[in-house]
Amino acid sequence: METKQIFIDGKWVNSVSGETFVTVDPANGEPTAWIQRGNQEDINRAVKAARNAFEQDAWRDILPAERGRILLRMAQLIREKKDDLAKLETRDAGKPLSQSYADVEVAARYCEYYGGVADKILGETIPVRPDILDYTIREPMGVTAHIVPWNYPIQIATRSLAPALATGNTAVIKPAEDTPLTALCLAEIAQEAGVPDGVVNVVTGFGQEAGAALAKHPDIDQITFTGSVPTGIAVMKMAAENVKPITLELGGKSPNIVFADADLSEAADWVVRSIIQNGGQTCSAGSRLLVEKSVEKQFVELIVERMKRLRIGPGLEDPDLAAIVSEKQLNRIESYMQVARDENVTTVTGGYRVTGGSLSKGYFFAPTVFSNVRPDSRLAQEEVFGPVLVVIPFESVQEAVSLANHTEYGLVTAVWTTDINKAHFVASRVRSGQVFINNYGAGGGIEMPFGGYKKSGFGREKGLEALKHYTQLKNIALRIKP
Ligand code: NAD
Repeated sequence: METKQIFIDGKWVNSVSGETFVTVDPANGEPTAWIQRGNQEDINRAVKAARNAFEQDAWRDILPAERGRILLRMAQLIREKKDDLAKLETRDAGKPLSQSYADVEVAARYCEYYGGVADKILGETIPVRPDILDYTIREPMGVTAHIVPWNYPIQIATRSLAPALATGNTAVIKPAEDTPLTALCLAEIAQEAGVPDGVVNVVTGFGQEAGAALAKHPDIDQITFTGSVPTGIAVMKMAAENVKPITLELGGKSPNIVFADADLSEAADWVVRSIIQNGGQTCSAGSRLLVEKSVEKQFVELIVERMKRLRIGPGLEDPDLAAIVSEKQLNRIESYMQVARDENVTTVTGGYRVTGGSLSKGYFFAPTVFSNVRPDSRLAQEEVFGPVLVVIPFESVQEAVSLANHTEYGLVTAVWTTDINKAHFVASRVRSGQVFINNYGAGGGIEMPFGGYKKSGFGREKGLEALKHYTQLKNIALRIKP
């Protein structure tokens, strides 16, 4: 079995402790590779390398257009290696192969999008008084820290790395322990594309060790975190100790709001897709179905029909629903089946781990729909992070909005209706960072600002808006002497 190394200052090295751990293929439970168990010492070395690279101006002071070209080369290399990257992602994270291909393409698009922006980071001139020329410039933050979750490993790593690089920062990436493989490939790709040594560093390891060491390191200048609420809070506290800015993307309990006047068949296709994509392990998964009571029965039948047709199998066979990322996450999903029993909800379909034949060795879970779910119940409030949909009926537009807002999350909302007034009214009243009307996700939407209200976090990834987190604004006032 292959042993992977960590990437610091342009070199592949073992962790200082020499300790390793295995990463497992969720489709069959078999080990895939030995991974370095990085800890504080490795993080110290990586941050030092990133600091030196930043201070030496090797990256921030090259022509912005050249920085952009290097990112475009990264995009090209990602596309050239897409077959290997997609297969690796599927073996590491379990997801259907076509989903991995889509994730790899999104990673390329981030490099392309922010590569194109590198020479367009503009300031302003501000009228103050006749003898003062006042202007702002956007400078890189310095050393950026990227703590990445396991659900979209290459996509989320690139989502923050690309804007950080485009704006002249250096970076230390800590991938999730369950899915470290493609982040290591990203380091190799950055080097091949011409990113100078020390600008991109990747340290694998556990959250409590490498992750915490990075979050509390005094010499980083900014943190981007995606993951669970409790870990996000812990990371934010560590950042606070050193007064470091942070963006948090912490998931959701996102509703699809389906009105009786919607194209129900089309809406059902999307509702199913939005909860089974990546096995429901998506921060923006459509995990709550709010449906107008008059069509509840009919609509739920459409959902179940579609779910029964889903193919379940190993990710490499490109099914509709592949393995859950790890045994731990599968157990977590299964634990919610006890919650469902305790809360006396109705299981419309699913509710069990899928076994039989080769599937028994992997971590598979059936697409699941629960109805008679109380809006205050744990099932309606907590992020299960699996293919589990809860159905809650409503009788008026006001009730739909009130239910949509009735969780501590606020990441995404989708509204399904042919009434434009209703659509706009709901869009204006829901407390969530993105609203989709008669679609869900806009095909990836890397150009659109993405982030949460409430406990879904703060700060915005994607789009031009993300650039604000990787730059700081300096105001310069020059006195003009006549
Ligand atoms: P997590 O939040 O613990 O892990 C996310 C990342 O943070 C990983 O890289 C991990 O190594 C790191 N980390 C963990 N503890 C840390 C610490 N103390 N300091 C610094 N970094 C640390 O997520 P998890 O435990 O793997 O998953 C649990 C739940 O989190 C899931 O069931 C799901 O509800 C949620 N989740 C959400 C997202 C999302 O996209 N918003 C992604 C993954 C998981």
